[in-house]
Amino acid sequence: MTVRTRIAPSPTGDPHVGTAYIALFNLCFARQHGGEFILRIEDTDRVRSTAESEQMILDSLRWLGLEWDEGPDVGGPHGPYRQSERGDIYAEHARKLIESGHAFKCYRTSEELDELRETRKAAGLHLALKPADLALPEEEVARREREGWPHVVRMHVPASGTCVVDDMLRGTIEVDWAQVDAQILLKSDGMPTYHLANVVDDHLMGITHVLRGEEWINSAPKHQLLYEYFGWPMPTLCHMPLLRNPDKSKLSKRKNPTSINYYRRMGFLPQAVTNYLGRMGWSMPDEREKFTLDEMMSHFDVQRVSLGGPVFDLQKLSWLNGLYIREDLDDDAFLKALRDWAFNEEYVRQILPQVRPRVETLSDVMPLAGHFFSGVPAIEEGDFDGVKLGREDLVKLLQFLTWRLETVPAWHKEALLAEVKALAAHFELKMKDFLAPVFIAITGSAASTSVMDAMAILGSDMTRARLRHAIAVLGGVSKKQAKRFEKEYREI
Ligand code: GLU
Repeated sequence: MTVRTRIAPSPTGDPHVGTAYIALFNLCFARQHGGEFILRIEDTDRVRSTAESEQMILDSLRWLGLEWDEGPDVGGPHGPYRQSERGDIYAEHARKLIESGHAFKCYRTSEELDELRETRKAAGLHLALKPADLALPEEEVARREREGWPHVVRMHVPASGTCVVDDMLRGTIEVDWAQVDAQILLKSDGMPTYHLANVVDDHLMGITHVLRGEEWINSAPKHQLLYEYFGWPMPTLCHMPLLRNPDKSKLSKRKNPTSINYYRRMGFLPQAVTNYLGRMGWSMPDEREKFTLDEMMSHFDVQRVSLGGPVFDLQKLSWLNGLYIREDLDDDAFLKALRDWAFNEEYVRQILPQVRPRVETLSDVMPLAGHFFSGVPAIEEGDFDGVKLGREDLVKLLQFLTWRLETVPAWHKEALLAEVKALAAHFELKMKDFLAPVFIAITGSAASTSVMDAMAILGSDMTRARLRHAIAVLGGVSKKQAKRFEKEYREI
């Protein structure tokens, strides 16, 4: 048997370090067994999936040196590797499940579903809706079908009992069937859900081992049942521990930069980031901290993964990155790293329109554009003295903007401008006054190039990291303030 592993990212945002982490472990597992590593794009969420996000994921995994053998860009014998192009395959498989009596069409309306959940809640039952709850009298089903009501396809699930799932790291995991709902397999628009598409694809793509984040454990019973229904062998499962912030909470962009774009923009070397990700819950047999991807592949042993939540610590990563720059890069390599990072034509070209109207000599460029070539600016509390806002409002403004920017679907100037305008209106400030503190937070000075352009060029995580830094410089947000802020923010 050839070992085949895969990474199956959903292209719905910035390329996440968690995706790279899981990709790395799948790659190492495959290579260690002389196997193959596949990249599949799970873009069944048509509203949130974007081509830009997909491209960023491919670019950043490649930047990290994590190459795949088959995928949407390199092809392969099991394609297409984008789920949006496999619609017929899922419809066909859903049909088979209906025919074999393992799935059913469900014509329930969302109001009815809410009611059913309410009834279960009132009776103190689990909220998971079971086939029996969803059933309608036969003639009613026939009527809704005749009248062309929208419907979904759901899978049958046992009403009670225990489901036992094997996991390479965790041994057996037991889940109470009562908690498992009659999962939707095909949505009313005919698109599959994650569960159906994932199982069908893993099977058809010959995946033998699934290493994925522990947040998917609850899906395992449904997947196991689908494999049984189809009569297919199930790949071996391995749920990896989630990456955590230093305070042990789940790594999230609210607290830390999570986008690989940020680490790239910040000037981390790809080999250092990959090395650091390899340290997340895993260690080399001799415990050394610095190792190459090749070394990791040849010493890899999944049983050495420890389940205690690995902490993704920026300071540690910076320390390791420093070692790489100082110890590994000779002058030529150092120069090349600088070029790859920001001193290249593509990046500098983006800066030219920003500085052109403001310079008399070329030597004016760097003082004006320094913030495009740095991390978080060295600002102090006093830098905000010229801003005519009380401390609380100042911090609130920066915090609200940070929150707003967490959810901008596409990172370009027009979209950012719309967010800023909406918030300026909320604060009853003119754009200029609203932007004054933002200017300082982002560019590090009160007079520089356009702040809106700077945010667009710097990208989401770097922008938000700078805003968070400014908030910290201003003394941060107390727990009490945070509560007040959140309430007000929700009402905007
Ligand atoms: N599309 C899922 C994700 O975004 C894949 C989960 C899995 O590996 O099964 O992580």
